[in-house]
Amino acid sequence: MRFDTIIIGGGLASLVCGIRAREAGKNCLIVSAGQNALHFSSGTFGLLSRLPDGTEVAEPLKALSFLPATHPYSKIGVDKVAEYASATIGLFDSCGVGLHPAPAVGEGDFPINGYRLTPMGTFKPAWLAMEGVTLLPSKDELTWRNALIVNFSGFLDFNSLFIAEGLERKGVGCRVERVTLEEVERLRKNPTEMRSVGIARIMGKEKNWKEFGSKVKELLHGEDLVILPDVFGLDDRIVTKWIGEMLPAEVMFVGTMPPSVPGIRAQMRMKKRFESLGGTFLAGDTALDPAFDGDRVRSLRTVNLGSIELKADNFVLASGGLFGKGLESSPDRLSEPVFGLDVDYPADRSIWRDEDFFSIQPFAGIGVRCDDAFRPFRGGRVVENLYVAGSEVGGCNSLYEGSGAGVAILTAMSVAERILSGQ
Ligand SMILES: Cc1cc2nc3c(=O)[nH]c(=O)nc-3n(C[C@H](O)[C@H](O)[C@H](O)COP(=O)(O)OP(=O)(O)OC[C@H]3O[C@@H](n4cnc5c(N)ncnc54)[C@H](O)[C@@H]3O)c2cc1C
Repeated sequence: MRFDTIIIGGGLASLVCGIRAREAGKNCLIVSAGQNALHFSSGTFGLLSRLPDGTEVAEPLKALSFLPATHPYSKIGVDKVAEYASATIGLFDSCGVGLHPAPAVGEGDFPINGYRLTPMGTFKPAWLAMEGVTLLPSKDELTWRNALIVNFSGFLDFNSLFIAEGLERKGVGCRVERVTLEEVERLRKNPTEMRSVGIARIMGKEKNWKEFGSKVKELLHGEDLVILPDVFGLDDRIVTKWIGEMLPAEVMFVGTMPPSVPGIRAQMRMKKRFESLGGTFLAGDTALDPAFDGDRVRSLRTVNLGSIELKADNFVLASGGLFGKGLESSPDRLSEPVFGLDVDYPADRSIWRDEDFFSIQPFAGIGVRCDDAFRPFRGGRVVENLYVAGSEVGGCNSLYEGSGAGVAILTAMSVAERILSGQ
């Protein structure tokens, strides 16, 4: 089988690259082994909120010049980062995934980080939020006096007390309540079903979200903020809009423990967009066994397709780094399992991680070594028709910098543009 482009990985980077390639009419295949980081998403995207030296960043584009030359944003270049960042909302909009920044602070088109309330009751910076997810312009000047936090009886993946503690520290009085719904109660018989997605499926039925909304309304006693677990709108975010409009208070949906309902919804919609453009998505399959012609990849195979050779002009590796199994770790080395690419990591394993959990964790910055066009090295030589995108790319510690989605989306756009322009 022959394609113009074969992409390995089913996450954010892979889908953005695939959609761009299909929009330009390229015959494109995505091979996706399994779950990706969107299933764990906070419902917000980070572009850059901290520099490697720890300096906090409010306006990501203004901080790009402080990044090292090896950083993916430095390789993309300041102008292109700005161009791709401003194209992001439109690309997701075409998939039916609404994204919005924090309400504008100041003037101009530059992205400014907002803040989301985390399930731990803290405030974390973010660039864009998915529909229904609130981004605040400030983490200190909260405008609410009193909040009602409502959970489902027996739902342990949403800790209302942590959220209440966090808000109370900022001067917002909190009251915690629980709602019991007959259909959700049935899930409790099997503890593995009482998860965010199980509840979201039940809340996808109009009868249930209307009943839930009415019960929350009855619980309100003049609070100006209602906080709910983000388990609504797996298929359609109209539910979050409806609940927001029917309650006489501001409504904030706060992320639960994984799986992430807004993240899964975004992934499903992006996949649908890719397929509706004519792309082929092999779900639950693993790419392996590449064949090379000198410094070019000729083909690869997959577990499910057996001996069938999948050939392409260009290949993209967006296999998610350590988290996505795009990198493998053994006691003494780290390796890239599909192509055997060169990986940058400290030889001394004892410094791969820091004892202080909240400090910068070096292992999270480990990735494949690439040139400035995101072409990887193999045995010290550039692989000419292979590109790397997303968290598989080395040169940055996205976890520490708050740049995860930004690096995934922007490297994918950059790689797609290079492939399309034949660079
Ligand atoms: C738990 C977690 C939560 C995060 N939450 C956020 C957040 O809320 N906001 C944010 O900005 N960033 C977040 N990030 C950062 C995140 O890395 C990026 O946002 C982004 O989603 C990464 O996308 P990706 O496509 O590079 O990798 P992934 O999403 O990890 O996707 C990699 C894919 O490659 C597949 N794969 C691997 N090997 C093969 C193979 N051989 N064949 C076929 N498929 C293969 C995997 O199965 C997976 O589907 C989070 C990261 C993690 C680990």
